[in-house]
Amino acid sequence: MYNLSFIRADFPILSRQVYGRPLVYLDNGATTQKPLCVLDAMRDEYLNVNANVHRGVHYLSQQATDLHEAARETVRAFINARSTNEIVFTRGTTEGINLIASSFCEALMQPGDEVIVSEMEHHSNIVPWQLQAARRGIALKVIPINDRGELLLEEMDALFTPRTRLISIAHVSNVLGTVNPIAEIVRRAHSHGVPVLVDGAQSAPHFQVDMQALDCDFFTFSGHKTYGPTGVGVLYGKEEWLDRLPPYQGGGEMIETVAFEKTTFAALPFKFEAGTPDYIATHGLAKALDYLTRLGMNNIERHEQELTNYCTQQLKAIDGMRLFGEAEHKDAVVSFLLRDIHHLDMGTLLDRLGIAVRTGHHCAQPLMTRLKVSGTVRASFGLYNTREEVDALVEGIRRVETMF
Ligand code: PMP
Repeated sequence: MYNLSFIRADFPILSRQVYGRPLVYLDNGATTQKPLCVLDAMRDEYLNVNANVHRGVHYLSQQATDLHEAARETVRAFINARSTNEIVFTRGTTEGINLIASSFCEALMQPGDEVIVSEMEHHSNIVPWQLQAARRGIALKVIPINDRGELLLEEMDALFTPRTRLISIAHVSNVLGTVNPIAEIVRRAHSHGVPVLVDGAQSAPHFQVDMQALDCDFFTFSGHKTYGPTGVGVLYGKEEWLDRLPPYQGGGEMIETVAFEKTTFAALPFKFEAGTPDYIATHGLAKALDYLTRLGMNNIERHEQELTNYCTQQLKAIDGMRLFGEAEHKDAVVSFLLRDIHHLDMGTLLDRLGIAVRTGHHCAQPLMTRLKVSGTVRASFGLYNTREEVDALVEGIRRVETMF
């Protein structure tokens, strides 16, 4: 049963006021709010359990290790991976992509080899590859999009060459909301023997992601966008691939034996987890994923889809409204510009009405270039948003319009 007033009571921050007005939080694409069960679990662990994991024989350390490893199992089940060996804890999506860019390029790419990305990527799925291009001479190829904000898959097919080594692609665009057909992209890539890395920052919070159904080779997402704490994220990788990749960072936890002559590395997934992990945050993330599972990812998806459709309809009714991203399959994000009102002005004035939206290039400048704009206003929905909040946004936009 999807009861919004019960759900909102789990997020006390949603009841606060800003500038003396009720907060309308529509910046979930940037980060989500945290339910009490996450905050309580983290506070409780600091208060009653805290000890470093994987190291101590003592009671607290074993208890903390159990919580941390139980969190890994919760993540495995949440994304339907085959094994916890495939679940690497990171700092977030950005670190997951950097890890693969670094280790994959080091072990499996030669100068002149190619990585395919798309025109709608977040900077975190562009810049790590550019760093590798500068360091190792790899080349970047880009899948274009159509005017609705959908990938041109025929053009993708034409990008494959014998030097293609990897596709790295967003599951859902943080600007357009486009849900990319990952299973189909994976099928086509695999027919060329090319693995696929999926940036799941904007998909994992919104609908069920199933590693075995998608059959992607790597998948990464952020805890803080998934109702969990900041500072923790997940990198999924098929065991056969992770086994072939060298460590990303060196240090404690990731070794088996160390001598000055030779060091051997720990088994998966620890080979990729140098240093003390944020074990309080992994526990918090597990509680967040449990919370999502209790609500039901299908229910969350249905609710957010209704909000997105409703918001799109309402905005289209405003004269001079330009929407960005009208893909057939889109999710939880509405990007727009009204007449010639600058996105920053719109965002600032909405803020004064208590409405939190994001403005600017959304860390996707190449996409802005494609859209021929310097930025957009973006409302992004979460599981706790309401139709009344969409109404408040629309009314706010109409008020801003009268000021110009
Ligand atoms: N990819 C996409 C599609 C995103 O929306 C974001 C965050 N805006 C990121 C990657 C980066 O996530 P993080 O900053 O949590 O690493």
